[in-house]
Amino acid sequence: MDCSICTSMPVILRPPRNTICEACYEGARAIIDLVNNHLHSHDDQFGTDCQPNSCKTLGHVARWMSDKKAMENAIKEELSFLRAGFFTALRDQIHTDIQLKPANNGLSIPAHRAILATRSQIFKNMLDSDVCKAPPMDAITLPELSYEELECLLEFLYIGSLPTEKVNKHVNSLSLAADKRQL
Ligand SMILES: [Zn+2]
Repeated sequence: MDCSICTSMPVILRPPRNTICEACYEGARAIIDLVNNHLHSHDDQFGTDCQPNSCKTLGHVARWMSDKKAMENAIKEELSFLRAGFFTALRDQIHTDIQLKPANNGLSIPAHRAILATRSQIFKNMLDSDVCKAPPMDAITLPELSYEELECLLEFLYIGSLPTEKVNKHVNSLSLAADKRQL
């Protein structure tokens, strides 16, 4: 059959070019159902000439996807804005207020109490000194990590991700530290 969707040269088909093969028909139905299932489960809202929470045609699906793409790009921009700010604060040691020490009394890395406390309940408990009026801690030692591993852990805590090569290199020690500190 000369399918007007998947044929390589639709222009050679005779008008009205409205024949469609079974694979394209089933595919179109599946895409529309998939999007509608997603919309029903997420209680989504979109376009004006598309009924709320339902897509009837592939045209609606295309517009829904385009809206989603725009939303994704906006979220990526916000995320990169936030990540850049946090990472700069760590890298340039802007208003750091706590030292993190690796194993063997290695060189410490300055960090921020607020970031540590929001990323881990264990760190939060350690840094919450008001309750018992204990003096504020100046440093926290993470004896399970080398300096390089501690750097990676901080990068992960501040920006929420790590390059694959760093993950592969330090996966065991970082998993151990994350487990121990409830990260
Ligand atoms: Zn087809």
